[in-house]
Amino acid sequence: MKTSPSSRRGRASREADRLVELAEGLAQSGSRAEDHFWESRLDGEIDALLQNNDEGSLNAALDRLADRESRAYEELADAIEGRVEHVLVRSSDGQRDVLLFAAPVLAWSRMPLPTRVLGTKITEEIRQALKAHVFADDTDVVVADYFFSPDQLPESFGETAEFRTSLMSHLSDGRLPVDTGSLNETAQFLADQRYILGVVAGPAGKALFKWQEGMVNREEVHAAWNQAVEKSLGELLPACGFEPMLPRAYYVACRDADRAARPFSISASVAFLCTTLSITPNNLVATIAGCYNRQLEEYRIGFQVADEEEVIHGIVWPLLGAEDEMSDVIEEVETVLKDSGLVRIEVLRQRMPMEYCDDCGAPLYPNTEGEMVHAELPETGEPSGAHLH
Ligand SMILES: [Zn+2]
Repeated sequence: MKTSPSSRRGRASREADRLVELAEGLAQSGSRAEDHFWESRLDGEIDALLQNNDEGSLNAALDRLADRESRAYEELADAIEGRVEHVLVRSSDGQRDVLLFAAPVLAWSRMPLPTRVLGTKITEEIRQALKAHVFADDTDVVVADYFFSPDQLPESFGETAEFRTSLMSHLSDGRLPVDTGSLNETAQFLADQRYILGVVAGPAGKALFKWQEGMVNREEVHAAWNQAVEKSLGELLPACGFEPMLPRAYYVACRDADRAARPFSISASVAFLCTTLSITPNNLVATIAGCYNRQLEEYRIGFQVADEEEVIHGIVWPLLGAEDEMSDVIEEVETVLKDSGLVRIEVLRQRMPMEYCDDCGAPLYPNTEGEMVHAELPETGEPSGAHLH
């Protein structure tokens, strides 16, 4: 039977109402016993919506709770992400936990950063490194045969759950071939994230990660992982600086990477400018500005050579999670700039506009005069910031 758009809207809103009600119940719960009650009902609703590809109701409920700035928003977001990245499956060996994971890599290069098929050899090297150093003994691991940029990660909750299902169906091969034709184009930045994605499966309720077994901690796992993948990543990222991050469950790993990418992009930019222009960091001047639409959207940092007028490079420092103009973000940016060797840092106290270049769409960056200008790297002909025109 065909339904009219208005009746579909009616249904979506009823389902969103139900999610909001359950998430608020969970947020106000006063005991573990009550938590379980709300959680199991919330999980059931979310599973049904994911099954029906009803992304609209999930997002409508999140939007509604975000407006109220309630703890229920966090509860609902956690519950949805949890159901998307994790599932319990029945197998001949009993119940198994199946978890989507990400192993992010921070990278920078003067050349465009690659996104590419890993190839069977590197996929297998990475899978073996994950099994040996990251995941518990009794687990199976499958890796997607692609090195993803942030633009190419699955976009919606439904697509992410579907990707987890595709990976699951290749657990016995250990490798999921990826249809590269369906992937988005990648915006190019001097520094960016790349992702290795996969699924780990193990007996339900047992350890999935090595650190859960109590023999090694996360730092030791991270150090062993770095060492194990250095050679394979070196092949994937020729002429690039890179830092592998700790592989973790998908959503938390992506958040780790977003957070770590901000200081990484500053140190990469300073290294890039100093090499390209044959200068030392104390020759650079950085100007930090808060850029606003209705509210603070992001910070932008313009780089100039001391006593020169042009902004030669710029970086966007996005706000993450609950950060706003009351957060100590500027102090954090200043600390990272100082740690990178800069001694001259200007902070503009006025609200700057979120301006972009009309020609190429590149963000404009602040200069020491308090203007938003186009970043242009002199003479070398190399791209400054994200775009070249
Ligand atoms: Zn432009």
